[in-house]
Amino acid sequence: MSEQKLREAIDTLKESGVRITPQRHAVLEYLLNSMIHPTADEIYKALESKFPNMSVATVYNNLRVLKEIGLVRELTYGDSSSRFDYNTTKHYHIICEECGKIVDFHYPSLDEVESLAEQVTGFEVSHHRMEIYGKCDSCKNVETQKH
Ligand SMILES: [Zn+2]
Ligand SMILES: [Zn+2]
Repeated sequence: MSEQKLREAIDTLKESGVRITPQRHAVLEYLLNSMIHPTADEIYKALESKFPNMSVATVYNNLRVLKEIGLVRELTYGDSSSRFDYNTTKHYHIICEECGKIVDFHYPSLDEVESLAEQVTGFEVSHHRMEIYGKCDSCKNVETQKH
């Protein structure tokens, strides 16, 4: 399944006239197969052995290019490190307050909320953001072991 997705992503790159360097390909592939919404640093660490000459700045640079053509979403949570997500179908995130893990979950997009907000405020809505917070399974288990 991700093979297919990767091919589609490569096609999008080609259509956008973006050069497909081996690093760019690797960053994209890593994001596609990663369920953890990695930071640039985590991507760098994962690919370091494969590309000894690559720097964190290169990873950032690649992520920015991928973001510009809409393949990648940047998730900022007010701390210093953004997390990155391969931009597939719209989904929401649930975030662990203990370890910061972000997990995807699917729920119909809350379009009614957007149009209501538009009507009530007169804004032109561009997007919305909803996050659910809690404690993930592994953090929950750690907690119970302590007691
Ligand atoms: Zn957790
Ligand atoms: Zn996600």
